[in-house]
Amino acid sequence: MQLIAPILADAPSIKALRRDIHAHPELCFQEERTADLIARALSDWGIPVHRGLGKTGVVGIVKNGTSKRAVGLRADIDALPMTEHNQFAHASNYPGKMHACGHDGHTAMLLAAAKHLSQHRNFDGTVYLVFQPAEEGGGGAREMIKDGLFEQFPMEAIFGAHNWPGMAAGEFAVKSGPVFASSNEFFITLRGKGAHAAMPHLGIDPVPAACQMVQAFQTIITRNKRPIDAGVISVTTIHAGEATNVIPDSCHIEGTVRTFTLETLDLIERRMQAIAQSIAEAFEVDCEFRFKRNYPPTINHEAETEFVRQQLSAMAGSDKVQEFEPTMGAEDFSFFLQKTPGCYFLIGNGDGSHREGGHGLGPCMLHNPSYDFNDELIPLGGSMWVRLAEAWLNRPQP
Ligand SMILES: [Zn+2]
Ligand SMILES: [Zn+2]
Repeated sequence: MQLIAPILADAPSIKALRRDIHAHPELCFQEERTADLIARALSDWGIPVHRGLGKTGVVGIVKNGTSKRAVGLRADIDALPMTEHNQFAHASNYPGKMHACGHDGHTAMLLAAAKHLSQHRNFDGTVYLVFQPAEEGGGGAREMIKDGLFEQFPMEAIFGAHNWPGMAAGEFAVKSGPVFASSNEFFITLRGKGAHAAMPHLGIDPVPAACQMVQAFQTIITRNKRPIDAGVISVTTIHAGEATNVIPDSCHIEGTVRTFTLETLDLIERRMQAIAQSIAEAFEVDCEFRFKRNYPPTINHEAETEFVRQQLSAMAGSDKVQEFEPTMGAEDFSFFLQKTPGCYFLIGNGDGSHREGGHGLGPCMLHNPSYDFNDELIPLGGSMWVRLAEAWLNRPQP
């Protein structure tokens, strides 16, 4: 693995910043302290800072030479609403808030790169360091774009990475095309007429209609969409009734839909609505159907993905760069990729051997109360970002 020597030498100071952020996690659009810390570090290193895109977003601007070319590197900065189980010194100071997805580490890796890029400037053009709030459900990427990210800071491409527990540190996973799914929610309310449970003929029971609906939705997956298109419908909550001898007057159904393409999503939404309305009609209940699209699918662009694969292979060895197995999880980097070419990939967080005294049970996946980012990745990820930015700006324009 070819690490950049000054980044390796500087890693302990960046690790201290990472642990500071970890100890002070902040949720979607409330990342004031985190944004202050990032802006202060960038300013200390002589990097001009723009704040306020997506409320708490921070953009660092590292320019060199005369070229108009530019590339973006993105780190997400928010934490999750959950309580940390770890007992080490840098564990969360705030009950109910935790950096359980490693966005503290993503921030640290990009800060390591920022410092080096500013102090060495081995490129001609501009590197935009995009510190994005509210990845965990808030759509911070969408908000930064709405506030003019790409108009104020036009870039040829944008790159992002997520740490991945269970994959060795020093290994990467890359893939062109869809890598994360679209994430969507549905909310259905069925209204009938309450009655004594012993006299069902005097009421209109919404429960049998709800049962039919839940079953029928799965036929969209097996009978309507093309078998080779991935799609998931999960009904995750059903609420009705309070007593064994009362027929409830309403029933609420909620759940999630995941797809890799917008075409499949359009089909599933249309069919779910038709099935819900038709079953409701058949059972003589009223039906209110609401479908909410959250994150679109994350679809990597081919040329930019090939670029990342080549650079990571040259840095780490081609045997360390695996094919990214797509998952039906979601990631709001997708909004950037709808507007600008780029690639989102995975960097291994190790097998858990970085876990020392004070850790809760593990090894564990992201969003686990015992998770912690592996600080070994700071010089690795910092070197990776510098290499990608320099290589992008120094290569001949296609
Ligand atoms: Zn997460
Ligand atoms: Zn995450």
